[in-house]
Amino acid sequence: MKIRKQKTALVTGGAGFIGSHLCRRLLEREYYVICLDNYFTGRRENVRDLVGNPNFELLRHDVVEPLHIEVDRIYHLACPASPPHYQYNPIKTLKTSIMGTHNMLGLARRIRARIFQASTSEVYGDPEVHPQPESYNGNVSVNGIRSCYDEGKRAAETLCYDYHRIHGVEIRVARIFNTYGPNMDPADGRVVSNFIVQALRGEDLTIYGDGSQTRSFCYVSDLVTGILDLTDLDDFTGPLNIGNDGEFTVRELAELVIRLTGSKSKLVQRPLPEDDPTRRKPDLSLARQKINYRAAVPLEQGLKDTIAYFRDVLLPE
Ligand code: NAD
Ligand code: UDP
Repeated sequence: MKIRKQKTALVTGGAGFIGSHLCRRLLEREYYVICLDNYFTGRRENVRDLVGNPNFELLRHDVVEPLHIEVDRIYHLACPASPPHYQYNPIKTLKTSIMGTHNMLGLARRIRARIFQASTSEVYGDPEVHPQPESYNGNVSVNGIRSCYDEGKRAAETLCYDYHRIHGVEIRVARIFNTYGPNMDPADGRVVSNFIVQALRGEDLTIYGDGSQTRSFCYVSDLVTGILDLTDLDDFTGPLNIGNDGEFTVRELAELVIRLTGSKSKLVQRPLPEDDPTRRKPDLSLARQKINYRAAVPLEQGLKDTIAYFRDVLLPE
């Protein structure tokens, strides 16, 4: 008898913003997808249309606890990503990053699965090198309010490299730069969703500090392509920057959101949170070389699509 073996992917944090897009793209590639989440920041609405798909399964689980399951690939994204959410319970954030990644690496080792690790540009901290290449070791505070996330993600990366060196686990590490798009929670607290929600509600847009700090914003479809392509590579562990290298000040972003929404909202200043990085932009040379990566969606186009999503969520007819 010939048994057709369908590949199975585990997506941790699959009901979150990025995870929900990744689940869809894996289903399109004919994977059987197990979407694991503890719903701390993720929402069932993000994957509601997938429930009932015979190739899709939801699993409520906290990655801090060990998991026994058989899969071919692990995409490990479970971790709150928005500063207000990861600062809500910093000890839990560290446990999620370190114990969660340890559990997923242990699983990958036992079942010989390749594992993708969602790392972050935050490993560069408040960078003194600009733009940031993968070879830059970063400037990270060990005791600030962002440290639970930054140091947690750094330690998680270290665990990946050690599991690779010692146990031969096939790891793929991406450093993700600020990503935005549909399925962000309106209450997420990150800058793109905050500004769009505020503009659509006619509220003031809250600029932290003077708004001169910069970020480079990546549309989620570009990021997911990068994640899939990196994980498919057979001979490269990473780390690999994935993002968009267009750089904007926070004030420029606010003005663009006002223009694209046609909102009458004003800009107001709020205190700059501690350790807020001054500038950030990925050096994408290695991504171009390794996976022929190109961020295809410019900020204005991505914002239009994201605004359309939030209009539907916030102002349904
Ligand atoms: P998100 O908050 O929308 O998604 C995170 C998901 O993980 C949520 O569904 C949440 O409920 C789940 N989760 C959190 N703790 C968990 C736990 N202990 N057990 C099981 N599930 C848990 O954020 P996102 O933007 O989709 O981020 C996904 C991943 O990408 C995170 O690891 C994040 O650090 C990383 N990342 C994101 C960005 C970005 O700009 N969006 C940038 C860098 C890195
Ligand atoms: N920010 C802001 N107003 C907001 C939310 C965030 O000015 O309502 C600023 C924040 O201080 C930071 C930038 O926007 O300088 C990006 O913040 P976000 O939380 O999206 O991501 P991160 O700081 O982790 O890159």
